[in-house]
Amino acid sequence: MLEKDVKVQLKEEILDILGICINCRFCFPSCPRFDITIGENSCGGSGLTRSLYYAIKWDMKDKASLTELRDLLYSCMTCKNCEVACKKLSTATKLLDAIEKGKQLLLEEMIGPMPDQKRALASLEKYGNPYGMAPSERKEWMQGLSAPRFSKEMDVLFYVGCTAPHDPMVARMAKAIVALLEKANVKFGIIEDEICCGNPSLSMGERLLFEDISAKNLDRFKSLGVKHIVTLSPHCFDTFMNRYPEESMQGIKVQHYTQFLADLIDRKALVFKKKIEATAVYQDPCYLGRHNEVYDAPRKVLHNIPGIKLVEFNKSKVDSVCCGGGGGRMFADFESETDRIANLRVKEALGIGTGMVVTACPWCLINMVDGVKSVNVEDKLAVKDLAELCLEAL
Ligand code: SF4
Ligand code: SF4
Repeated sequence: MLEKDVKVQLKEEILDILGICINCRFCFPSCPRFDITIGENSCGGSGLTRSLYYAIKWDMKDKASLTELRDLLYSCMTCKNCEVACKKLSTATKLLDAIEKGKQLLLEEMIGPMPDQKRALASLEKYGNPYGMAPSERKEWMQGLSAPRFSKEMDVLFYVGCTAPHDPMVARMAKAIVALLEKANVKFGIIEDEICCGNPSLSMGERLLFEDISAKNLDRFKSLGVKHIVTLSPHCFDTFMNRYPEESMQGIKVQHYTQFLADLIDRKALVFKKKIEATAVYQDPCYLGRHNEVYDAPRKVLHNIPGIKLVEFNKSKVDSVCCGGGGGRMFADFESETDRIANLRVKEALGIGTGMVVTACPWCLINMVDGVKSVNVEDKLAVKDLAELCLEAL
């Protein structure tokens, strides 16, 4: 397809999707960006997509205005709160599809992605991860680990993702999952030179790169005879579940690690013996909860840890609030904004009298730890990944 045709098609698709929005604004109050921008119309739910809609309708060409539009669209956390509100109360407009296509369009126009995200995209293309890690660096987190390399006879592929090799805190999360799988005698393995699932390229509007990465992964899964994938990250989980072609993923079961741990508990392959006395609240990751409706498995795991008293955020499950990290924001400079979003969540946790926030996503973990530091309540509120907590309770 010619370059011009791609743009024309994207514009038509976006106008089609957004044509049913009646601008009732019922989606605004649930948007975390609307919250932190003191209710600016352009900053929440359909505020973002109206800006995109009129930019196309009016054939906006002026670079400064398009750059402003880029900053708006790329600031979306893709948390899906707006879509859920619209489906419940109004016209079920697919806002996230429009936002993703809007990013693709801006990329075609050479306006997107955000300046910092260009580095992440270049690294994805060169190294297969968004963090600029050369293949030898990517393996460093595994030093001293006995985790086997995946081979055909194994039951489960533990798909680690790119953030654990990059961030020591998330590496601990990966090591905890490895230890739990070993403890439960699961026949599992890791792909030593694993590449990204492709999620960051989608969230930055680089559809073609995503197609290239997903094709490489699918070839690899096929040649290795993978039948069951357990992911560390809800983002990899969602990408394999919903963004890889359904026909290519047939015969491959995909689970997030919290679901697999819940199954191991059911089969009595994992039994927690140590008591952990804590009142804990669970932060639903958007891509596990709202995007895939996995609410019960992580709570079931928490209920099985002796001593844990589970409480709920005022806004939890389908109404849960994003940590600020979705939509490719972790690769751009939205830090002060993300900080304010995570801070709100930290204050909410303190308000309900909990001493521990439990997460199950690398970005929730990073943002909540930062939030606790910035609110200066490290002595009052612990942030734990669910796998690490499980390991402590063995
Ligand atoms: S709730 Fe739906 S129809 Fe109403 S403004 Fe938001 S996207 Fe448009
Ligand atoms: S996905 Fe979340 S951050 Fe993005 S517009 Fe909708 S509610 Fe706001």
